[in-house]
Amino acid sequence: MTTKKTSSATVRKLCPQCGEHLHTRANASVCVCCESKLPHCKTCGSAIVATINDSVFGDGECNGCEYRRYKLQPEFAEALDRLLEQTVDQDLAYDIELTEGEKEARAKSLAVFEKLDGNAA
Ligand SMILES: [Zn+2]
Ligand SMILES: [Zn+2]
Repeated sequence: MTTKKTSSATVRKLCPQCGEHLHTRANASVCVCCESKLPHCKTCGSAIVATINDSVFGDGECNGCEYRRYKLQPEFAEALDRLLEQTVDQDLAYDIELTEGEKEARAKSLAVFEKLDGNAA
């Protein structure tokens, strides 16, 4: 009776980018030489690999960072809305004139909300 030995113990993952080099780091998605040629996420600095962690908008971020920003966006909008309501909008309601800086900041904020509503030109 012979014992069959499979070679499953030596499964090597090839780099999906070049298909040649092996992954040299345990949790790396591509080999080191490919990683150095790839674009890197402007937020966290990790290499962006197509179909693995590339983002939907291709805006220089990995999908993790893009997703976090996407998820946080409504919270930012709400916080800004509240801030306006409690500060400059209060001033306006009491006929307190806004400073140039406040006017500018308010206009900028309102422009962002218009974009969110899809009304921006
Ligand atoms: Zn490679
Ligand atoms: Zn990132």
